[in-house]
Amino acid sequence: MHGEDDDEIWCLRVAKKHAEEARRDLIARELLDRAHRPRVEGEDLLLPLLGETAGAEKGVFAAFPGREELPRHELVGGIAILLEEDNEGAERVLHSRPSLHTVLYPTSPVEGEFRTREFAVLAGEETTRTVVTEHGHRFAVDLAHAYFSARLSTERQRVWSAMREGERVVDMFAGVGPFAISLADQASLVVAADLNPAAVSLLCENIAMNRKKNVLPMIADAAHLPGIFGRTFDRVIMNLPMESSHFLSAAFALCRPGGTIHFYALQDEEGKYLDAIRAFPVAGVVERRVRSYSPAEWHAVYDIVVGE
Ligand code: SAM
Repeated sequence: MHGEDDDEIWCLRVAKKHAEEARRDLIARELLDRAHRPRVEGEDLLLPLLGETAGAEKGVFAAFPGREELPRHELVGGIAILLEEDNEGAERVLHSRPSLHTVLYPTSPVEGEFRTREFAVLAGEETTRTVVTEHGHRFAVDLAHAYFSARLSTERQRVWSAMREGERVVDMFAGVGPFAISLADQASLVVAADLNPAAVSLLCENIAMNRKKNVLPMIADAAHLPGIFGRTFDRVIMNLPMESSHFLSAAFALCRPGGTIHFYALQDEEGKYLDAIRAFPVAGVVERRVRSYSPAEWHAVYDIVVGE
């Protein structure tokens, strides 16, 4: 029987043991419908969705009383980041989930060489540190001192699934290591470099927390990596979306012929960086949209197969 507040909407069926991972993935893809209560069916959990996606089915869900009135926010581990400065709303968000310990409001844009932001604590513990679980890995993050975005989790999985066992990988702008540590599962070696000492300190914590023995962390300018390692890598990750193009020559000087460079860029027109990429020896290039950034801009990734 359906109640008065029940709605028929799209949902994703997942095994209960994978539910938390799937829930975080849907949050990162901005697809989870928080206004409806997830439902158990046998060994499965049905997660309500904001729209149709691959593998989705229709189901009937009860509305969560009051949930839809929470202010808009993004979740990063035990921290909620509010999009508006709303102290009363922050308290309600804090108490909406037992996993939350802090509610923050950004007081600056993402800025500077280290791509960090400043925050005010609106509710809960006075901290910008938390631990994020993503596809079986755990990452210590400090949102005020090192860049981290949960929104790239699907992209990390996509790159991981394109890899072959035993590859040598270099992550030129590694941050706290979400790409480096995820890809280490398949790689023989991952070199993970970042200019920000606070990011590399968290990266070291994350290597230990995830028991990785094949990730080499370093405080280094990505431009200096070819001088240290030469053209020895099968795969290069370039995730510095505003300025990656300045480092294309370093990426080509690190990647062996036949290897792949994943070049991330913020852009407002299709193919914006194709000419810059084709100035180097390229055997093939595929451009994809990763996620939208503003009404006119999006994060794109160019998967480049390096030529001779
Ligand atoms: N890949 C990480 C992730 O997905 O969370 C971090 C990406 S963040 C957008 C870019 C990172 O590049 C920042 O941590 C910043 O400190 C670092 N960075 C900026 N300029 C750099 C340079 N010249 N060499 C190495 N790292 C740099």
